[in-house]
Parts: sequence; structure tokens; C-alpha cells
Amino acid sequence: MEYAPAVAKAVHPAPTLEWDTPLYQQAATQLDHALELAEVPDFVALRLRAPERAVILTLPIRMDDGRYELFPAYRVQHSSVLGPTKGGIRYDEAVDLGECAALAMWMTWKCALLKLPYGGAKGGVRCNARAMSVNELTRVTRRFTMELAPFIGPELDIPAPDMATNEQTMAWMMDTYSMQKGYAVPEIVTGKPVSIGGSLFRHEATGAGVVMVIERACSRLGWDLSEQSCVVQGFGNVGGIAATELHEKGARVVAVSDISGGVHAEAGLDIPTLHAYVAEHGSLEGYESGVERITNEVLLELPCDILVLAAREDQVTGENAGNLRCRLVAEGANGPTSNEGDRILAERGIPVLPDILTNAGGVTVSYFEWVQDLGRLFWDRDEIRRRLADKMSDAFDRVWNVSQDRGIALRDAALVAAIREVSGALEARGIYP
Ligand code: NAD
Repeated sequence: MEYAPAVAKAVHPAPTLEWDTPLYQQAATQLDHALELAEVPDFVALRLRAPERAVILTLPIRMDDGRYELFPAYRVQHSSVLGPTKGGIRYDEAVDLGECAALAMWMTWKCALLKLPYGGAKGGVRCNARAMSVNELTRVTRRFTMELAPFIGPELDIPAPDMATNEQTMAWMMDTYSMQKGYAVPEIVTGKPVSIGGSLFRHEATGAGVVMVIERACSRLGWDLSEQSCVVQGFGNVGGIAATELHEKGARVVAVSDISGGVHAEAGLDIPTLHAYVAEHGSLEGYESGVERITNEVLLELPCDILVLAAREDQVTGENAGNLRCRLVAEGANGPTSNEGDRILAERGIPVLPDILTNAGGVTVSYFEWVQDLGRLFWDRDEIRRRLADKMSDAFDRVWNVSQDRGIALRDAALVAAIREVSGALEARGIYP
């Protein structure tokens, strides 16, 4: 294909702007590395290195004690080339523009890799959700949705849950947006309750998808999953479900953790009992029965076959990657391995199942949810699980084959496949005007 001279060459590098934090640099460095392998036109590389749009808000919220507090909030849309942008909303004290921009870029690659008609977005509110009441969280969510309303929409940008947000948060967002429109708009968010147009199996989708990818990797490596020992960091939506799926498939889950620390039992943990405890007490804190209490640092370095990182970014770094004693790493969280950590694991021959592939089950069933909402026609659980398994296997096989054929890491193979997908669309559309 021929390009007009004005766009054939990117003469300037992308400008360094406010989102250029260490996490964004991690995402941009991965992109630069993958661009060397992906062989796409320069103008594509230039466009994809920076997000298309970033919204910064400050939300004034009346707290339960009558005081007002101002919460910074963000929404970053990385690429709308393939369709509406899609990505989670997180409530966390570390949320900033760079974090949202990095996560939005990873969402673009994830959607493209899974061949979903979406680009990437991410947003969040900088707050300590665990210290806030339900009423305070409702007000934060409704105010955030109201201020975001001009920038989101079923054909524009579709939020979903992420860290410390859940089905209830999505229900408040859907209701607030629908009140503005004057009619119910279920397709404005995904990950909402089934009673208002949510999809069956969305809640389980990310964790179940993680284990589908692990299972497929085991079979390529000639391992039997039911004979493997597993450690899972993070016991929330992703890690909690992944631990359950591993347990149900007969693998021995020897340790799990959350923000309060970890529990370890070499003979294998009773995962259903741990879930019941967390449902009653809010976290693993104080659980002692038949387990050794450990820190998150110790947990990451336990000997095991499969280490599932399902808590948050930047957990395996240059500091601890040399001490890991697993045979395979599965990234359930986004960005849990730093670039330096990645390099050390590669040198040590420990394969990493990359986040944009491994945790893509969530956005894939979110896509199914949106399709069902738009069609007003709902599928049963088995149908959704089957469709998810097909999508995850197809993406896994493409990544594995590129990695084997070209002798590159699984992360690079996944990024190359994803970037080429976006590049194909951007080359066809061209740069406006
Ligand atoms: P969550 O809030 O439900 O769970 C997070 C878990 O990690 C909790 O158990 C929390 O206590 C624990 N945690 C937080 N900080 C920790 C730390 N420093 N050390 C150890 N544990 C810690 O969130 P989630 O939805 O399970 O998301 C986890 C990760 O997965 C995030 O990186 C998120 O972006 C990613 N992710 C989530 C989805 C989804 O559908 N929920 C989809 C794709 C990716």
C-alpha cells in the first residue's frame, strides 16, 4: 500500500507529556521493543506511542462526617482505531495519569490480540476505597460518571470494573448515565449485575481465562496441570477465581495472599474455606488454621511450579526476579513484571505468560456482555464459557506459534501480533485529515 508523503515518515518522536511516569515508560519501552520486531510504518508507531485523549477531573465529595474532600480522577483513551475504547475503572491511592495511560495502552494490545472490535482505555479515582463507606463510594461513583458522561458511551468508551470496583460500582455508573439519557442504557458499562443486563460468567471470566491459558501452556510444555503446585498472589476477583479454578482442576495451591499478607500450606490450601473466610472477614487477615502466615515478599519466592501474579503492577522486579523458584509465571494482573524482572526471568529460562494474553478473559466476556446488551438477547453460561475458551485458545496458539517460529519471548510475540492488528486498521484508515 502507498502512503501520502506527509504521513509516510514520522519526523519527530512522540512528545513527552504529563503521563510519562515510570509505569508509562515500562509500557512505552515494551512497545518500542515490539515495534522493532513488528515492522509497521513509522506513522503507526508515532500514533500508538501516546494516548489519544486524557481527561483529568477533581471530584468534590461530601464525606459522611460532613467534611468535603477533593479526589483526583482520570480517564485515558489510548486508541479508537479498532472501535470504542474499553477498560476498567480502579479506586486506589496510587492512581495517576501515567498509570491510567500505561494500562490504557495495554488494553489496546489486549483487545487487538483477542480480535475484539475495541481500543484501550483505563480510568480511576485516587482514593482509599477500603476506608470509605458505601454512601461515600456511591457519591464518588455517581459524580465521576456524571463528569465523564460527555466522554463515554456505548459507541465511544465503555468502562468496566478493576481494582476495588465491582458489579455494584458498575450498577451505579449505569444508573447515573441512564438517568442523564432518560432511558436504561445497559451497554454503557460491562461487569454489571445480571439483573440489569450483565453477562453470566463475567464475574469468573478473568480468573477462569487465566487458568485456560495456564492449562494450554502446560499441555504445550508437556506438563499435567493436576500435578503442578501453584502460588497465587492476590485473592480478589482475578486471583480468588484463578485459585478456585486451579484447585478444581486438581492442582495443589500451596499459597495465596492479599494486601494483608499470605497463607502457606505445602500440602495444599482449602480454597473454598479461604473464600468463606474472606466473605465473612473482608480479607485473609487473621486466618491461621493449618497454615503458616507469610509476607507477600516471601510468597513470591516460594518453590512452586506455577506462580500466578494477580494482585497489581510491579511485583516481580530486578530486586526479586533472581530469587523466584517457580517454573512458569502467569500474569493475571496488569504489568506485574517490570522490564528488568522480565529480562532476568528470560535469562533464567522461566517463561512468562504475558498479561495482555493471560488476563484477557475479562475483556472478552465484557465484549460478549456488550454484544448481548446491544442485541437484547442473552446467552447461557455454558455458551459463554465455550466461546471464551475458543477465543483464549486461538489467541494463545497464535502467540505461542509466533514465539516458537521467531525465537522471541511470549510477551514480544503477543505485542507483535497485537500491534500488527492495530496497524492493519490504521494503515487502511490513514491519519485524518
Ligand atoms: P481486586 O481488588 O478484586 O483484587 C486485588 C487483590 O490483590 C486483593 O486481594 C488485594 O488485597 C490484593 N492486593 C492489592 N495490593 C496488594 C499487594 N501489594 N500485595 C499483595 N496483594 C495485594 O482486583 P482484581 O480485579 O482482582 O484486579 C487484580 C489485577 O488484575 C489488577 O492488576 C487488574 O488491573 C487486573 N485485571 C483485572 C481484571 C478484572 O476483570 N477484574 C481483568 C484484567 C486484569
